[in-house]
Amino acid sequence: MKKMLAVILMTALITVLAACGANGGGTESNGASGNGGGDNAKGSVGISMPTKSSERWVGDGANMKSEFEKLGYSVDLQYAEDVIENQVSQIENMITKGVKVLVIASIDGESLTDVLQKAADENIKVIAYDRLIKNSEHVSYYATFDNFKVGVLQATYLEEKLGLKEGKGPFNIELFAGSPDDNNAYFFFDGAMSVLQPYIDSGKLVVKSGQTSMEQVATLRWDGATAQSRMDNLLSANYATDTVHAVLSPYDGISIGIISSLKGVGYGSGDKPMPIISGQDAELASIKSIIAGEQTSTVFKDTRELAKVAVSMAEAVIEGKEATVNDTETYDNGVKVVPSFLLEPVSVDKDNYKEVLVDSGYYTEDELK
Ligand code: BGC
Repeated sequence: MKKMLAVILMTALITVLAACGANGGGTESNGASGNGGGDNAKGSVGISMPTKSSERWVGDGANMKSEFEKLGYSVDLQYAEDVIENQVSQIENMITKGVKVLVIASIDGESLTDVLQKAADENIKVIAYDRLIKNSEHVSYYATFDNFKVGVLQATYLEEKLGLKEGKGPFNIELFAGSPDDNNAYFFFDGAMSVLQPYIDSGKLVVKSGQTSMEQVATLRWDGATAQSRMDNLLSANYATDTVHAVLSPYDGISIGIISSLKGVGYGSGDKPMPIISGQDAELASIKSIIAGEQTSTVFKDTRELAKVAVSMAEAVIEGKEATVNDTETYDNGVKVVPSFLLEPVSVDKDNYKEVLVDSGYYTEDELK
């Protein structure tokens, strides 16, 4: 009898908690309560993010959530921990719940065709966030940065620091790219190679491993540990007696893995200086690493601005209006050219991080200590 009473009480408690919008694993759903100011009168929106393992996506999600809430929407924000099936089922759930719009940063840009069809069947529009969603006509707009320029900035930094324009060299370089299922990875790599290839061709840059194609240098899921073990292999196979002078890294999490590998064989100490190493996202650990003289540069993409752009696109499609775009040529997803808004990336190193990151309020001085 007591046991039964306990079960009934427990069930009642769970029901009450559920009604209050208590969150389950991986869910940041915000129900009718505590929306930070708005009254949720406008209905709910779904935000599907790839992973919490990189700070940028955590910030992206939080920024969009608060922007939507200011406008009076409630927000269902989900992270899929880089598992494609999780992302698909989280989006399916949002569709079932009847969100007004979906904002999606995809894990694999080619895996969402079916679920986007389901959204279209329910007349739910989709905004691609940061990463292009491929092979679907049901992508209304794309909010992102000038991704080719990100790669140009990464490589131009290496070019300047090595003095390649002044004719210095030859230098040894190794190349890393991002995840082959992320359309951005190709743009970053192509942008970087537009700067580096002429020096490789002229012999001023030497890739001792010989690995220069996207297939050879890609890093599945942008995983730092994967990059670290590839760098271990590159160093042991090619640099027993030679020195690596520069590493093209597409993302801060990858740079951190590469640096661990380099430290493991003595770079950054004694007469073995760290090579010049690029990055992307201005993640806290990498800014600290830049200040400490390990990573050399990163590319800052102000995700606060990106969130604003995506939210205004979302609101436009909900209201049946046209959103503001500044690019209608670049992002062909295989079915259509998706109208896009591209924001400007900024190169950051130890000389300008204060101005770019602290003065703009992205980080406080204290966070960087
Ligand atoms: C984003 C980058 C990020 C990378 C890894 C890319 O799609 O554009 O900012 O570094 O994913 O998360």
